[in-house]
Amino acid sequence: MTSATPIDQGREWLSPTRAWRLTECPASVGPTTYATAKGTTQDVNTGTLAHRVLKRWIAVEGYRAQDPRQTLASAVNEHVAELGGRLPAGWALARARLLARGTALAALLGARSPDEVISEQEMIDPELRLRGTPDLVLLGPEVVLIDLKTQTFTKDDVPDWVKFQLTIYAYLVELTYGLRPDRVEVFSLNRGPIPVTVTDEKIKDALLQVASARASSRHDAKPAEVVCYFCRRRLECQPHWDAATKWPDADCVEGTLRRIEEATTGAVAVLIQTKDGDVWVSGVPGELITGGPGDHARLVRLGRSRTNESGLTGRRWGHNSAAHIATPM
Ligand code: SF4
Repeated sequence: MTSATPIDQGREWLSPTRAWRLTECPASVGPTTYATAKGTTQDVNTGTLAHRVLKRWIAVEGYRAQDPRQTLASAVNEHVAELGGRLPAGWALARARLLARGTALAALLGARSPDEVISEQEMIDPELRLRGTPDLVLLGPEVVLIDLKTQTFTKDDVPDWVKFQLTIYAYLVELTYGLRPDRVEVFSLNRGPIPVTVTDEKIKDALLQVASARASSRHDAKPAEVVCYFCRRRLECQPHWDAATKWPDADCVEGTLRRIEEATTGAVAVLIQTKDGDVWVSGVPGELITGGPGDHARLVRLGRSRTNESGLTGRRWGHNSAAHIATPM
């Protein structure tokens, strides 16, 4: 077992993802004062749906069936039926990939008994205040840690933040079961298993990075697109907004609300006057637009949309989008 570096017990609990973000930007764990408007939709996204399907397939031991692909298809159909047709964007492709990978997933799980297949169980380190919920931990003769990823990978390697995440997970698995995973893999729906090397040194280094970041000044904001993306302080973090103006294809918009146009769906399109010109944002849940023209608006995690007939740049609201709208003082 790797010896842990002692840290301040008064600091907050970190998931592997937040721990990584903290190492990249110490300000990311600071207090949040903005109430974030996210919309009331209960729709699931593609990643969540794929994880739910996998969890059910494992719970019913579908991987041990004679035809695991068939049982996986049944788990898919059950979840789809529960959603009543409200399927997330991109689900058709994810579904096809999930089913195509069913046999490989079943082979990975092998003939393990249910108590050797740990699916989405939280593991914690109370001393270091780290906690995480790996997608799959397989016990038995070979201990395997698996993280399911639904996004498209363009090469047989994963981003550094994913490696960091899995390194912390491997540490938590060892702490929980007394067994270091023999194999650590990302199971990518488009590429299949992608091995990640986790060593004693890498775990020690990751824990040191977290401890060092915890000790850093909370005022030390280091904005970067991949780091800021899911940061809960993003809407209020001024360094982020200052930096985002220079990002070539920033997924966020800040400016003055000029117009609000209602659609028959209950969603609205809002016209935001930014420093670089006017931008339409479409598909915003109507209940989020509590203010009116002249208010200050910040919206993040927006998708792209085509430039409209008037030549105005467009953005569209997505599942992970969030907004903050306030009347200037
Ligand atoms: S939004 Fe970006 S720069 Fe600001 S605290 Fe979060 S990660 Fe750091």
